[in-house]
Amino acid sequence: MSGRPLRVVTVGAGIGGLTLALLLRRRGVTAEVLEQAPELREVGAAVALAANGTRVLDEVGLADALDRVSFEPTELIHRHGVDGHHIAAHPVAGWYRERFGAPFLGVHRVHLQMLLGEAWGSEHLHLGWRVADIEQRDGAVRVRSADGRELDADVVVGADGVHSVVRRWVTGGDSATYSGTSGFRGLVPVEQLTALPDPGAIQFWVGPGAHLLHYPIGDGSVINFLAVVEGPARWTEPTWMADDEPGAHLTPFGHWHPAVTQMIGAAPQGPRWGLFSRPPLHRWNRGAVVLLGDAAHAMLPHHGQGANQTIEDAAVLATELAPCGAADVPGALARYTTRRRGRTRQVQLASWATSPVLHLPDHSPALRARDSRLTRLPEDLAWIHGHDALAGDGRPAAVTTARG
Ligand SMILES: Cc1cc2nc3c(=O)[nH]c(=O)nc-3n(C[C@H](O)[C@H](O)[C@H](O)COP(=O)(O)OP(=O)(O)OC[C@H]3O[C@@H](n4cnc5c(N)ncnc54)[C@H](O)[C@@H]3O)c2cc1C
Repeated sequence: MSGRPLRVVTVGAGIGGLTLALLLRRRGVTAEVLEQAPELREVGAAVALAANGTRVLDEVGLADALDRVSFEPTELIHRHGVDGHHIAAHPVAGWYRERFGAPFLGVHRVHLQMLLGEAWGSEHLHLGWRVADIEQRDGAVRVRSADGRELDADVVVGADGVHSVVRRWVTGGDSATYSGTSGFRGLVPVEQLTALPDPGAIQFWVGPGAHLLHYPIGDGSVINFLAVVEGPARWTEPTWMADDEPGAHLTPFGHWHPAVTQMIGAAPQGPRWGLFSRPPLHRWNRGAVVLLGDAAHAMLPHHGQGANQTIEDAAVLATELAPCGAADVPGALARYTTRRRGRTRQVQLASWATSPVLHLPDHSPALRARDSRLTRLPEDLAWIHGHDALAGDGRPAAVTTARG
């Protein structure tokens, strides 16, 4: 390592950019974090953080603060969407923390973003800095903002989300793949959900052509939901969100259990979200410019892993970069890509495969095998939730992982 400190620029102050910056700082490297928004403010919806993410946030020092603003579900329950019978149920609170060494938590996105932002502070955060251009020169990378400001770095990390400008620069541009499914999201006070059994649980209501996922967030008084439906067959809107006819969010659930229709009907009708995934990348970097999080591997939401995989990326990249001088960056980025590419691809593929399985028709011959798999779910998913992205960073692995 050379004498001069490594100059790291992170494009994006979302979950990935801030987690990376915080982990680097703990290892003695100060990053400059560039964010296009004029203030750090995530809007809407919630995020479920699994053990593979929360164990890294613990390392950042956020475990107690996160516990205060989030809710640990009591159980994971799969039910039939129409008659409501239990297909499978597993304890979460207590059991999950014990099994995977870190909690599963439902948190409002605003609260997570605030915790990360407050932990990072304002000194090395550059708001209103929208990266528009990147130029690689001998031994340095120059990023340029839309209004002409410039900054040089030894390594630039594209943590700029699903519509990443940095990904376009690294790959030359590629298109997202539409899944043929779309979703409606909402937040509802639990007191309005009089028909809902087990309001403290994370639950999937599954049925022909659709499913509803919900879990409590914060102090448990609000339920976050995502209702996923088949179609439209083609997504023709210019953006991934589109206004729909009044009631379009309820139509596919017309004859479903009252808990389902009550929940979806209780939230103001939001836009329909086309569910897209980015194709897995072989190359994650171009020179000293590298991708992280959704910019590298945006995925469907059905394993609740977009943010968690992003946090894992941050842990691995921080571990690889922190001991480096500028000359060591190529090796560090190669090791980071090798450690992250296969695993994130597996999670992307598993997320893609999940929604058709949840949407099976009632008389499908595959139903029995699906239901039997759901009874083994926590162990089947141990390769995701048990993974310790910080292992190899002088820490022992938290749990044994089945595949990861
Ligand atoms: C409604 C919703 C619910 C979700 N639920 C879950 C869940 O339960 N569990 C889970 O694991 N994942 C979930 N996800 C996915 C998860 O939110 C993402 O995978 C995660 O936020 C990715 O983090 P990121 O840092 O890569 O990108 P982001 O968090 O999107 O951050 C990107 C940042 O980059 C900034 N930026 C963009 N372009 C530029 C530019 N040119 N210059 C400077 N800054 C720029 C953006 O303003 C933003 O702040 C959900 C996503 C959504 C939308």
